[in-house]
Amino acid sequence: MKNIKRILSVVVAICLFVGIALFSSISTASKDEFTQWKVNIQFVSGSKTRTDAEVQAKIEEWVRVAERVYLRKPALKITWTLVKQATKDGKDLSQMIFDSNAQYASFMDRNFDNVAVTKTSGHLTVLITDKLCIGSKKDASGNTVPTCWGGYAHFPHWVNPFSRKRGITILADKDKYTFTHELGHIFGLKHTFEPYVGFNLQCNDSYKPKGKPAGECNSCPNGKIVYDSNGDPSQCNGPANIMDYCTSVTGNEFFNPCQEERAANQRQIYMTDSGETNYFKLKGLAGEEICTKDGECEEGRYCGKGLTHNQCLEREPLGQGCTRGGECDSGRCYLFKCAEADDCQVDDDCGSSKLYCNTGVAELGRNVCTAKLVDGQACTKDQQCTSAKCSEWRPQDGQASGVCYTPSSKVGGEPCRIDLECKVGKCNSNKTCVCKSDGDCKSGYWCDGGVDLAGNVCKRKLGKGESCGFGVNIGHRCLSGKCSLLGKCT
Ligand SMILES: [Zn+2]
Repeated sequence: MKNIKRILSVVVAICLFVGIALFSSISTASKDEFTQWKVNIQFVSGSKTRTDAEVQAKIEEWVRVAERVYLRKPALKITWTLVKQATKDGKDLSQMIFDSNAQYASFMDRNFDNVAVTKTSGHLTVLITDKLCIGSKKDASGNTVPTCWGGYAHFPHWVNPFSRKRGITILADKDKYTFTHELGHIFGLKHTFEPYVGFNLQCNDSYKPKGKPAGECNSCPNGKIVYDSNGDPSQCNGPANIMDYCTSVTGNEFFNPCQEERAANQRQIYMTDSGETNYFKLKGLAGEEICTKDGECEEGRYCGKGLTHNQCLEREPLGQGCTRGGECDSGRCYLFKCAEADDCQVDDDCGSSKLYCNTGVAELGRNVCTAKLVDGQACTKDQQCTSAKCSEWRPQDGQASGVCYTPSSKVGGEPCRIDLECKVGKCNSNKTCVCKSDGDCKSGYWCDGGVDLAGNVCKRKLGKGESCGFGVNIGHRCLSGKCSLLGKCT
């Protein structure tokens, strides 16, 4: 048999998304004040290889490490009890061997489910065993061998029926981080080598596949992976992520800040508005109305109308029917079908000051990160412009649209598009910044708008007796401020 993997990946494909983080941060805003998430855990030990004292010491270590790791508010606080039990339902609890996942799930549901006495009282169940094998596989020589695990936890809402969850199974000899890893799944974390769907809280971005087979020791720095006799990565001779499959030989295992945040968000989801642990949610009681809005569901689920009560339903993949974005993996519903995810909701999502979040209808209503426009390009909003300024659309000035511009960036004589670009004066019909009024000229000069308004220029003010022309309001051309009816400055 192959090395027993420390953990199991229960997680299948589609799980998490994007909007969730937004929804949950909104819906759980009032829960932010709670500093602790207190949970009762009942450990049931069926181990025959370990003494009671050894099991007890193991649990103490597991709990200590988990509480130390899940520190982010609401911090994990565990109250636990230990029950010893040799058999259940005719099964030796030290040898948890099942032909199939369905068989294992059924046994766990009947016997070791999480318990909710009321919404706020109950416990999480953790079964401690000596051997856990589910189903079988072919080994390198082609022989059928059981698939065995070091621990097994259900990712939130992985199971059927929807919204149902089960306790953890864990081997008595597992290292101090294994329990924390299994709790990680319950808190919405995936393995480092599994993708998160959507674009928020992509906690695995920094772990590029390095191991063999790709990725099961993803977080271990290059050159530090220790391979087992089958050539599979099994340990890391350096720091390793807790959600990886390899144990750190140096005892240095960690979560990244993104994982800490995700796990903390999930603890808030398992919390009532008054800050108590919601055991209905932890158990996923069938038949209970377990949600009123998406933010109350685990990552990857939305609150949908069941036949008799609301359920946390699995999000739909691309192309499936929907009535709103929250029902889709992608977070976007277009023409009643789940459609490709938006690039962004706000400019910050685009990750560069050179891009803005285009929420227009360009790509069938999909938000797209788009390069910001330079001065002179057509725009409708300030947000689109590199200069952060989009002009009004003034057809009376010959504009075909609003344009991006940098205010007061052009001096007299420089080419321009609109008046707002000119440091002083206006943008004339020759598209040059020129004076508009005398104030745009230096002292002793007046602004000659000309006849055709094409070539406004500053002209020296006229002295007494000089010709100042004929018309109304032309006295400003004269130093004296007066142009006589004879067309001379007084
Ligand atoms: Zn796992």
